[in-house]
Amino acid sequence: MLGLMQQRPLALPHVFHRAEQYFGHKTLVTAEAAGESTMSIADWAQRVRRLATVLDTLDVSADGRVGTFCWNTARHLELYMAAPCTGRVLHTLNIRLFPEQLTYIVNHAADEVVFVDRSLLPVLWPLVDKLETVRHFVVIDDGADAEVPDDPRVHDYEELLAAATPFTGTFTIEDENTAAAMCYTSGTTGNPKGVVYSHRSAVLHSLISLVADGIALAERDVVLPVVPMFHANAWGLPYGCLLAGSDMVFPGPNMTPTAIAALLEKHRVTVTGGVPTIWMGVLPLLPDLDLSALRLILCGGSAVPKALSEEYRKAIGVPMLHAWGMTETSPIATISGLRSHHAGASEADLADARSRQGYATPLVDLRLVDPSTGEIQPWDDVASGEIQAAGPWIAAEYFRGEGEGAQFTEDGWLRTGDVATVDRYGSVRLVDRTKDLIKSGGEWIGSVELENEIMAHPKVAEAAVIAIPHPKWVERPMACVVVKAGETLTAEEVIAHLEPRVAKWWLPDAVEFIDEVPKTSVGKFSKKTLREKFGGYQVQNP
Ligand code: AMP
Repeated sequence: MLGLMQQRPLALPHVFHRAEQYFGHKTLVTAEAAGESTMSIADWAQRVRRLATVLDTLDVSADGRVGTFCWNTARHLELYMAAPCTGRVLHTLNIRLFPEQLTYIVNHAADEVVFVDRSLLPVLWPLVDKLETVRHFVVIDDGADAEVPDDPRVHDYEELLAAATPFTGTFTIEDENTAAAMCYTSGTTGNPKGVVYSHRSAVLHSLISLVADGIALAERDVVLPVVPMFHANAWGLPYGCLLAGSDMVFPGPNMTPTAIAALLEKHRVTVTGGVPTIWMGVLPLLPDLDLSALRLILCGGSAVPKALSEEYRKAIGVPMLHAWGMTETSPIATISGLRSHHAGASEADLADARSRQGYATPLVDLRLVDPSTGEIQPWDDVASGEIQAAGPWIAAEYFRGEGEGAQFTEDGWLRTGDVATVDRYGSVRLVDRTKDLIKSGGEWIGSVELENEIMAHPKVAEAAVIAIPHPKWVERPMACVVVKAGETLTAEEVIAHLEPRVAKWWLPDAVEFIDEVPKTSVGKFSKKTLREKFGGYQVQNP
């Protein structure tokens, strides 16, 4: 017997029309070079309707990929809705990637148009001739003075909007499994991989940001997403806010701690979110700020240091709300926070509890699997294993079948590459990583790529690159180098060798010379042994 409920697709047009109908009086503030601008949701919705027509005028195909190369702004939020509500796929591009990665991603996704903030044109435009599928570049003038190329492919965002007739109907997406947005992850070895969110996954993931044991987004909130809108859709905050009707404040291009702090105070922000590095930057400013409106700081992307969370708790009464996830998990999979069994615990125990990655949200399933035997591990907080995840907003595969098999199990779970223990209440605590990568300030550094470059040095026999803790960036690379017999080599020479080969922020903070890279029983580099050996290493002059 089937249920007799209406079949309504879970799709973003509902979020758009709800915001337009109920929350037209709410506001979107953006900080840009020319100053702050405030837009009502009613005006924003009209602009989304115009933008929908613009995409037709630009002849973007029915499911064409719409690239964005933008800061966090209200105009970026227009693209967040206009692209998926017209059946196109929003493709947010990470402005911090190397040129080669960016070119690869745009071509792999087959972006037809890229909307670019004027201040970011100098990064994107030099690649223009390598972007094979892009027919239009639409410049969003954010007050920067970057030169706008005189080229028939270049258009002005505001001019296009002004000339467009707004779409007046109701947006419809028949099949909730239609792609809505995509985001490439560089958190894997090899080429970046495309994660494709559906309307259904985006709506369900937005709903989860409204639940009480999570972020509890509400209409009366004022939300400032510091996490970039190109990082897994700013952790789903923009869609969640539109669904809840919260006001939003967008930081635009100025991501300095002073600018973020000023916005938090001035707009009486209640909810914000960003990687630990951001909050480490804001920490020294806390004594001079009135953040009495702030109720929640969402923090993740890297492990949140317990001390950081405690410093916030002591200074402003708001510890970090620790969350864990991946681009592949939309991204929120677990959220920490205190539960009834913590009642009466000491401050030290509460701080420990908060520093865990936390509990799977409703609709997310997790299991702990021994990576070598494949056996399911008990939730006793002692046995560790790789976390595998399943759920309606967890990727089932990558775009164009990339990396098939490696990241997904035969029974359809995502291998996260994160190693954890889980306590009997289901709280996850990350202890290690099987993926050979380093996460510095929220961005990935490929250890294998660094190793290959170091091992290309004629005097190097072997090299392994590991993550070492860093007070600002959370992790930084350390190179452990074995010099060929009879040769001599200095740390400076290793760095000089790398300088022309990798981005500046990939250069190791430390180079240690060792006799041999420790190996596992099957002869692989045992990074674990090296991490144990150098885990307490203090970076000089951080
Ligand atoms: P990305 O896809 O770039 O968002 O990276 C996801 C990865 O970042 C995860 O698989 C973890 O390795 C790491 N990560 C995310 N959140 C946390 C967290 N709260 N604690 C520790 N690591 C995290």
